[in-house]
Amino acid sequence: MRCPHCGFEDSKVIDSRDNGETVQRRRRCERCSDRFTTVERIVLNELMLVKRDGRREPFSREKLESGLRHACQKRPIAVGQLEAIVRDIENELYKLGKAEIESSTVGELAMERLRRIDAIAYIRFASVYRSYPNLRAMRQEMDRLLEDVAEEDAASGEHGANGKSARNEKGRPRSG
Ligand SMILES: [Zn+2]
Repeated sequence: MRCPHCGFEDSKVIDSRDNGETVQRRRRCERCSDRFTTVERIVLNELMLVKRDGRREPFSREKLESGLRHACQKRPIAVGQLEAIVRDIENELYKLGKAEIESSTVGELAMERLRRIDAIAYIRFASVYRSYPNLRAMRQEMDRLLEDVAEEDAASGEHGANGKSARNEKGRPRSG
């Protein structure tokens, strides 16, 4: 990286900041001591999905997003939340650093995230994606989900329902 001031090729990194998706490096030119910043980011290659039947198709962010959107229809999930999930999955996929990825990996990543935000959306997505062989299999999945939800509720629940213990404030009769 040439110094923008004098064109010299060597610079010293004096500070670097990792922002997750990018790394910024503060550099100092070895000749003129001018300071400048460089940004490093991963170049996304085209990612191929390997489908169950062995066919390949390029990973499509739009396709993933529309699948998720269908599952989330009329659920209390913000558009921003969905976009964040898509971004998150995409990052995860590229982090794997492979040119080809089983399409099932994408589905699993999506389900994992949906499960955390909305059980109904999760079941919808899973029912399309996993294509449960029968009602029983689907029911088992729901039972597991219900157990998890119950556990989470118990863990994050309010500290007991002491609804009946409403104090009656006795105003002391004052004589005077
Ligand atoms: Zn310089």
